[in-house]
Amino acid sequence: MSAIPLRLFPDSASIGADDALSIGGVRVAELAAQYGTPLFVYDEDHLRARCRAAVNAFGAGNVVYATKAFICGAMVRLAHEEGLMLDVATGGELHTVLHAGVPASSCVLHGNNKSLDELRMAIAAGIHHIVVDSFDELDRLEHLHSSGLPVVRIQLRITPGVHVHTHEYVSTGQDDSKFGFNLNNGDAHKAIARAQSSAAVDLIGIHCHIGSNVFAVDNFEEASKVMVDLFSTLNLSDLTLGGGLGVAYTENEEAPSIEQWAEVLQRATQSLPAGSKVSVEPGRSIVASAAVTVYTVGTVKPIEGIRTYISVDGGMSDNPRPIMYGSGYEVCDPARMSADRTDSARIVGKHCESGDILVESASVAPNVSVGDLLVTPVTGAYGYSMANNYNKVMRPAVVFVSGGSSRLVVRRETYDDLVRLDL
Ligand SMILES: *Cc1c(COP(=O)(O)O)cnc(C)c1O
Repeated sequence: MSAIPLRLFPDSASIGADDALSIGGVRVAELAAQYGTPLFVYDEDHLRARCRAAVNAFGAGNVVYATKAFICGAMVRLAHEEGLMLDVATGGELHTVLHAGVPASSCVLHGNNKSLDELRMAIAAGIHHIVVDSFDELDRLEHLHSSGLPVVRIQLRITPGVHVHTHEYVSTGQDDSKFGFNLNNGDAHKAIARAQSSAAVDLIGIHCHIGSNVFAVDNFEEASKVMVDLFSTLNLSDLTLGGGLGVAYTENEEAPSIEQWAEVLQRATQSLPAGSKVSVEPGRSIVASAAVTVYTVGTVKPIEGIRTYISVDGGMSDNPRPIMYGSGYEVCDPARMSADRTDSARIVGKHCESGDILVESASVAPNVSVGDLLVTPVTGAYGYSMANNYNKVMRPAVVFVSGGSSRLVVRRETYDDLVRLDL
C-alpha cells in the first residue's frame, strides 16, 4: 500500500520536509507531547469552512448543526458564530448549548422520547421550535400548555417510508422505525390534523431525517420528493429535510460534497411555493473530516502465521464506531507520512474485550514500534460525542488548531473525574 492520501485529513494538514504531519500549522508530534494521547485534534478553519459551505449552499438560517455529532462549548459557539442553528436531542445537549452561552432561540429540540422535564426546560428557555415525534409528545405539550407554558412552535417528524443504503442502526426513514409519524399508515395525517387544531402548539412545518452516513444522493432525492408532495398539500412555511450526508472514512470511499447534496435537494424542492423555508441538519459532514485522533503505541504483538496486534492507549472508549457499526478507518504514523504502508496489523485498544478494535486490518509503515504515534483520520464525528469511561479509561482531551497555534477546548479527564459521582 502506498502512503495514506492527504484528502482524508483536515484541510490544513500538511507534510513537512522531515515527512512529519502538521495540522493547522502545528506538528502532530508537538501536540502529542504537549497535551498527551489519546488526543482529538480538530482543524478549526476546516470546521468553519464546512459551516460556511453549508450556509452558502442552503442559505443563512436554513442550516441546523446536529450537535450529537460533536458537542462541546467551543464547537457550539463556533457553529453559532458561523450562523448555524443547533439541533439538540436531549436536555443534556440543550444544557451544554445554553451553558456555552448560545441562546435557546437558536436551538431546535429533537428526540423520540422527550420527557416532560425536557419539554418544559426547552419551552421555558425559549426554544426556536420543537420537532414532535409522537402522539404521546403532543399529549405532553398540551399538558404543559394547560399548566401555563406558552404556545410553542413545532414541526412534525414524518417517517416517509424510504429505505436508505447505510447501516441498519442509523437508518431512520423506513416504516419500521421508532422515529416519527408514519406517512404510509395515516399517522402523519392524523398528527397534522391534531396539531392544527391544538391550542398548545403552532405547527410551522414538517420534518424528515432518513438516516446517517448516506452516500447515495438518490436516497435524499426520493425522500425529498415524498416530503415535497406532502408539504404541497399543507399550508405550512417550513420543510426540514434532515441531515445524513455521508463522508469518506477510508481510501476507497468517496462521498458527495455539501454542494452536491444541496444541488439534489434544491432540484427536489424547486416546485415549492416562493417563501417556503427549506432547512437541513448536517452533523457528520460538518465535523467528521475536521479531526484526527492521535494515539501512542504501547505494545506490538506479532503472532507468526496469524497477524500482528498493535495496541494503542485508547480504543472503543474514544471510538466505538468500529465495534458498533463495523466501521473502517485508515491509520498512519505521523512521523512517516510518505512511507509505503507495507506491513499489515490489527490496531486495537486497551480495553478488556477482543472486540476493542480500531482498525481491523490496517496497512501501516514498516516496523511500527512501542512509543510511536499513530493517527486515525476522520474521527471528528460520533467519536468524542460517543466516548465513554469503559474500564474507567479517562476520556481524551480535545484541541483546536489554527494558524500555527493550538488551544485546549476540552481537558482530559482525571482520576478524580472518574469517581466524582461515587457517594
Ligand atoms: C443525527 C441526526 C442528524 C445528523 O445526521 P448526520 O448524519 O450526522 O448528518 C440530523 N437530524 C436528525 C434528526 C438526527 O437525528
